[in-house]
Amino acid sequence: MLIIGAGLAGQRAALSAAEAGASVAIVSKVHPVRSHSVAAAGGINAALNPEDSWESHAFDTVKGSDYLGDQDAIEIMTQEAPNEILYLEHLGVTFHRNETGHLGTRAFGGASAARTYYVADITGHAILHVLYEQLMKRSEQIDRYEEWFTTDLLQDENGTCIGAICRDLRDGGLQVFNAKAVILASGGCGQVYRPTTNGLIVTGDGIAQAYRIGARLMDMEMIQYHPTTLAGNGLLITEGARGEGAWLLNAEGERFMERYAPNKFELASRDVVSRAEQTEINEGRGFEDGTVALDITKVPRRRTLEALREIVNIGRDFAGVDITREPIHIKPGMHYIMGGVKTDYDGQTTVPGLYAAGEVACVSVHGGNRLGANSLLDTLVFGRRSGVHAANRARNMTMPATLASRVAETERDIAAIMNRQQNGRRIGAIKNELGETMNEYVAVFRDQEGLTKALEIVRRLKEEAAVAGIDDRGSVFNQDVIAAIELGYMIDVAETIVVGALERKESRGAQWRLDYPGRNDEEWLKHIDISLNGGDTPQVTYSPVTITRWQPEERTY
Ligand SMILES: Cc1cc2nc3c(=O)[nH]c(=O)nc-3n(C[C@H](O)[C@H](O)[C@H](O)COP(=O)(O)OP(=O)(O)OC[C@H]3O[C@@H](n4cnc5c(N)ncnc54)[C@H](O)[C@@H]3O)c2cc1C
Repeated sequence: MLIIGAGLAGQRAALSAAEAGASVAIVSKVHPVRSHSVAAAGGINAALNPEDSWESHAFDTVKGSDYLGDQDAIEIMTQEAPNEILYLEHLGVTFHRNETGHLGTRAFGGASAARTYYVADITGHAILHVLYEQLMKRSEQIDRYEEWFTTDLLQDENGTCIGAICRDLRDGGLQVFNAKAVILASGGCGQVYRPTTNGLIVTGDGIAQAYRIGARLMDMEMIQYHPTTLAGNGLLITEGARGEGAWLLNAEGERFMERYAPNKFELASRDVVSRAEQTEINEGRGFEDGTVALDITKVPRRRTLEALREIVNIGRDFAGVDITREPIHIKPGMHYIMGGVKTDYDGQTTVPGLYAAGEVACVSVHGGNRLGANSLLDTLVFGRRSGVHAANRARNMTMPATLASRVAETERDIAAIMNRQQNGRRIGAIKNELGETMNEYVAVFRDQEGLTKALEIVRRLKEEAAVAGIDDRGSVFNQDVIAAIELGYMIDVAETIVVGALERKESRGAQWRLDYPGRNDEEWLKHIDISLNGGDTPQVTYSPVTITRWQPEERTY
């Protein structure tokens, strides 16, 4: 089995597939422990405490999703969560323990109990390293292809996914990977926006690759703006800060969340808090630099130094602020995509043989808005389930073969990029315009006029990207050619985000339409699916939201 991506979803899938008896190749364009999961800070949710319940976790998730999440999948995720935490703890993840020696939790937004388990503010880092140890331990069954870049997914004549073409970044060599099943675990698409909390490698490759071979995407319009990012560079100040007791203040010193979420204040769900902040800023109650303030001095200094040490460093190094002594200026910033490649709760996409798990996928457990600390959980639960399901599928198959000529096509495509004239725009300039466009028109607040403009710009950028020249024509670690390929993925993903946002004529979760205020369950309690459907422009269809036990209600915090 081939797994594309070695973040938490990919590594968890590799382990469960190996445990189920499969032989696995796992490919990552960076060294696995540099996958973006390493940046996850605040923690991972589970109703593990006997006083808590999976039903409560599930309801919070459904409400957080603004009733767009599929409740069957949410039930599975929240029921399996406690076992995932225990599995990780037994492997050696050093989760925080409280004074009584038990696993301790912190509060997170939109949750009715403190159910976020954490390792200081380096939770992703801690988990990723422990899983990587397990991959190494199982090296007889799991082959790691580190610094290999997947360019294309492969299909047989019936449309079944049978592998991928990958480029060894060290020497530029291309190889076909034949596989009985392929699991996409290639992460999100944060770089489609500028700024973003996501690293440079998060370019939506898997979403675009699946889309290009006909897979359906779902909920693409749902882009999460995190309430606390640094202006300019987009660096994240973890929600853990508010979980530990930090306040949000406007320039008049008012704790404004009292007006927007009188029961939860700073710990309302992210879409609600980001909208509140943006409203304060737009109505002139923010600071001159277009921000509001996060006051972490409300948290005892000793606790901040112990449990939030990374953001102490970020504040000092990137904003010149000692967060233990003064408030830091923050604003909403692009952070996460709730949408992605549509899957069922075993990770199966609409293309036979192709699975997806983690941020690349849309199960959909996050619907219109993800609760903080539910993403790490999603990567692990659905990574594990995909691995098991795909291993079982592979067990009864013969190995498919791919025509060697398929590599020649990709070789030609890459040669064409290398041979482009230098008279077009620079890749970096196109990428910046794309990100800034998305951040201007497809952000916390949206409307028809802005979205239409965004679509026009994205389509123009697509034409410009197709002829943008590169400088490096070598084969060893040629990041120029990779950047050109990634730009193509980002533009495809951006197009589907804007098309989805134009289509949904209501306000739900992260999709707040100034021209269609209010949620409209009668017409829009449904997923927007987008696929190429054999053509070359996005086609929209709909699919129902699965409701098991929680009927949509008014959502207040
Ligand atoms: C700053 C930050 C903090 C966060 N904190 C939290 C938190 O506290 N709790 C929480 O629940 N969530 C958090 N999140 C969200 C969460 O970290 C991510 O959603 C999650 O880690 C994604 O994991 P993943 O395995 O799907 O993808 P990733 O970890 O992004 O891994 C993607 C993998 O795919 C590989 N890849 C991609 N494209 C290719 C290609 N073309 N060829 C080969 N390999 C490829 C990459 O090399 C990488 O190995 C945070 C996110 C950010 C940005």
